[in-house]
Amino acid sequence: MSRGGWVALLLVAACHGAAPAPVAVAPPAPSDAGPPIVDAPPAVPTPILDAYRATADQIIAHARADRGAFTKLAFLTDHIGHRLAGSPQLDQAIAWAKDALAADGHAVTTEPVMVPHWQRGAERAQLVAPIARELVMLGLGGSVGTPPGGITAPVVVVHGWDELAARAADVKGAIVLYDVAMPAWTEAHGSGYGDVVPFRVAGAIAAAKLGAVAVLMRSVTAHSLRSPHTGAMRYVDGVPRIPAAAITVEDAALIARLAAAGPVRVALTMGARSLPEAPSANVIAELRGRERPDEIVVIGAHLDSWDVGQGAHDDGAGVVHVMQALTTLRALGLTPRRTIRVVLFTNEENGLRGGKGYAAAHGGDHHVALLETDNGGFAPRGFRIQTHGDVALRARLDEAAQLLAPLGATTLEEDDADADVSPLVEAGALGLGLAVDGRTYFDVHHTAADTLDKVDPQVLADGVAAIAVMAYVLADAEPALAVTAPAAAPAP
Ligand SMILES: [Zn+2]
Repeated sequence: MSRGGWVALLLVAACHGAAPAPVAVAPPAPSDAGPPIVDAPPAVPTPILDAYRATADQIIAHARADRGAFTKLAFLTDHIGHRLAGSPQLDQAIAWAKDALAADGHAVTTEPVMVPHWQRGAERAQLVAPIARELVMLGLGGSVGTPPGGITAPVVVVHGWDELAARAADVKGAIVLYDVAMPAWTEAHGSGYGDVVPFRVAGAIAAAKLGAVAVLMRSVTAHSLRSPHTGAMRYVDGVPRIPAAAITVEDAALIARLAAAGPVRVALTMGARSLPEAPSANVIAELRGRERPDEIVVIGAHLDSWDVGQGAHDDGAGVVHVMQALTTLRALGLTPRRTIRVVLFTNEENGLRGGKGYAAAHGGDHHVALLETDNGGFAPRGFRIQTHGDVALRARLDEAAQLLAPLGATTLEEDDADADVSPLVEAGALGLGLAVDGRTYFDVHHTAADTLDKVDPQVLADGVAAIAVMAYVLADAEPALAVTAPAAAPAP
C-alpha cells in the first residue's frame, strides 16, 4: 500500500472515531429468535478526543486571537535582522529570546555551543564572453573564496550528474554550472527541493574531482524574480576545495542559451572565508510539568538564519511559534503532567551544532517527543511524524490530530521531522515536524526576500495554535504518546 493510502486509511479510521458514537443498526430479527443480533463493530473509543477537545478548543481560540508571535517576529526581523552563526546579530537574537521568554514568565537558560564562523565577504560574478553582463549571485555557505584576482574560466553547463560525467573531458579548468530546474510545488508531492538540493550540497565535490576550478548553481527555487538563493554546501578531504556560488534562475537560463551556441566565459570573485569557531548558545525555556516534570516534550526551532534577508520564514516564524505556544499555555493556566521545553537551536543552517549539542547535553533526559517547526510561518496542515513503526502510537496520534480540525491541520504523514531534533529522534524518540502549506516557501527561502512582509499574522497565529495543542496533549496524555513498540528490525 502506498504511504498516501495508508495515511488515508488511518485518517478515515480516526475520523470515524471522532464522530458521535455511531448508532448500531441491527439486522431484521428473525421472527422466532430471541434478542436481535447486533452485528455492527463496536464504536472506536476516543479517549484523547474526549479528554482534550474542550481544552484544545480553548487553546485554539486564545492563540488565534493573539498577535504575540507576530510582535516577537517583527522585533527579531526588523530590529535584529539576519543572524548567521558567528555574527553579532545571532548573539543579539539569543539575548533577545532569553529576555522575551523570561518576560513571558518562563524559566530560561542558555547552553553554550561552539559554531562555525563563515563570512561571505565581497563577491561578484560577471559574464565576460560572448557578452558582458553582471550576474546576480550569492556564494554558497561554507565556500572558499577565490584568489584575490578572481577566477575567469570557460563555463560548462550540465543538467544533472550523468551529463557532468559525460562531459568530464571538458570540465578540467572550467567553471561548472549546474542548471538543474527545481520541480514546481504540487499538492501530491510538495516541493521539489529535495530533488535539486544535492547539487548545491555536493556539486563542488563532484566537479572538483574532474578538475573544475569553480561551480555555479542555478538557485534552488521553482519561481524566481531574479533573486539568488544561498544555502549550505560541503567539501570532503582529498578533493580540492573550489569556490561555489548560486546564480539566479534567469541568469542560469541565459548562460545555458548562450552556451548552446558557443563558448561562454565567466569571471568570479569571492572573498569568502572561514574563521575560527565562535561561541554561541541554545536558548531553553520550560513550562514545568505538574506530575512528572522529568518527562520532556521538546518544541523547537532554529534561531540562526542565513546572512541575507531577515530569516523571517526560515526560521524566525518557527522561533516565535514555539515561544508563543509556551506563552499561550502559561497564560491559560494549563500545566500539563510533563514538562514542555522550548529549545531555540543555534546554527542549524551551516553546522547543526545546536541540535548536536542539545543531544549531547540532554541525550540522557527522558524525552517523550520532540517537535520542531522549520518550514515557515504558513498555514498549518498537520505534522510529519516519526513513530518508528509503533502502530498503536500512530493510531493515537491520528486521534490527537483530530483536535486540530478547526485549523485544518489534521494530516499526519510518516516522514522525517526537522533537522535539529533528528539526533534524538533517530535514536528512537517520537519526532514531529509542523507541516504547512509550503507552496511559496522556496520562492523566498535563503534569499534577501525572506522578510517580515511575507508573513501573515493570522496564519502565523494558526501555527502557534497547532503547536500549542499538540504540545499540550503530548505532555499530558495518559499513557504517554511515546514510542513503546517500535517495529521489529528486519531479520538479518
Ligand atoms: Zn530553517
